Amino acid sequence: MSTPGELPLSRRRFLEQGSAAAVGAALSGCAAASAAAAKGPMRYRRFGKTNLTVSEIGLGCATGLKSKMLGPERFNRYREELPAILHRLLDLGGNFVATGRGYHDTEQILGNAMKGRRHEVIIFTAPDPPKDNVETIIQCCEESLKNFHTDCIDCYFSHGRWSERFYEAALKLRQQGKIRFIGLSSHVPAEHRACVEAGQLDFVFQPYNYMALAKWTERFDRNDVEGLFAFCKQKDVGVISMKPMTGHFLPNWAKDTSNPKVASLMSELSGLGAEHLYHAMLLWVLKNPNVCCAAVGMSAVGEVAENCRAVGMPLTRAHERLLEHYAAACTDDYCRLCETCLPSCPAGIRIPDILRYRMYYKNYGHREDARELYAAVPADRQATACTECGACEGTCPNKLAIRNKLREAHTLLV
Ligand code: SF4
Ligand code: SF4
Repeated sequence: MSTPGELPLSRRRFLEQGSAAAVGAALSGCAAASAAAAKGPMRYRRFGKTNLTVSEIGLGCATGLKSKMLGPERFNRYREELPAILHRLLDLGGNFVATGRGYHDTEQILGNAMKGRRHEVIIFTAPDPPKDNVETIIQCCEESLKNFHTDCIDCYFSHGRWSERFYEAALKLRQQGKIRFIGLSSHVPAEHRACVEAGQLDFVFQPYNYMALAKWTERFDRNDVEGLFAFCKQKDVGVISMKPMTGHFLPNWAKDTSNPKVASLMSELSGLGAEHLYHAMLLWVLKNPNVCCAAVGMSAVGEVAENCRAVGMPLTRAHERLLEHYAAACTDDYCRLCETCLPSCPAGIRIPDILRYRMYYKNYGHREDARELYAAVPADRQATACTECGACEGTCPNKLAIRNKLREAHTLLV
């Protein structure tokens, strides 16, 4: 795994690593299809009852979560490149951006970048972190309107969890014509389902990627997620896949070349081209007719065309084999943040939070922020309060070695 002090491996470097290994390898049918698709147009889907038409791929902005997460050098590079990333996406037919007030100054950067092109962009944004005060939420929205130089946010959503205060504020904002549609982003399908059942949502953001397949877990979560999506379809609620490429997990997991599982995956990629794996992840998500689109984090202009090349490609057996290989290789290190383990812990340890901060540290390379987040967890809920009873591991559908990971997290994060 990555060693302290190193920068996380960028997607670009990961791709170069795979491409270098591919020198001399025969081009697969998919790679040929990739080149042909590069000239192909974007494809669009109806976004549920909003009746908006969304491009299959749009821009997610979690990379702008906090400047400290990337370090000043990479974050400033990202901020400088973001306008060009947006323009490239629009030029290739993409038509939406998804961000939030908590994603540093991405609203201002995107708002300035879309001057003269506002009509080409569907804006998704959120008052983040979640607020429980109606007036504060309304004020957040007013600031978002200013940042985007617009008089109406297309899609406004509660970020991370649902709040009735958010809904109250959103209804007022909609009445005032300041937002058009109301949504929720949550990791927990049941939370989405409850709000859809209550008729409160026009759209949902749900993490959805191949790694979340029930095949790699015992119970969670394909049925839940797929069931949610079918329910959304029935209720005509728009569905956006977030984390379609498993967040930033892959590039930094793949950095540990001493890991035989990584070596084996890279060897398979060498015959296909590294881009193939990213395409496979996107194609797998987009093959679901109940998914309207994927919000993809892109931190460099080159990634936009790489991703858009996947649009319209067939998902081949070679793609599927690669996904199976990837998931089998890293499933035992991938916490789905499903929270199934939480009620089982007699000590009330914040297991998903701690494993998330461990992932920020190890897999995203966001070390300073991960440590800060961990420090904010009350001491009696941190990993050191674990009694090693093992109850949580009996409930984890992914069979993660939670106790080991908690111990490691504490070592890394203090
Ligand atoms: S092993 Fe630790 S984290 Fe897991 S249930 Fe027991 S006390 Fe909680
Ligand atoms: S440790 Fe297991 S049960 Fe707990 S959040 Fe992660 S995947 Fe879910």
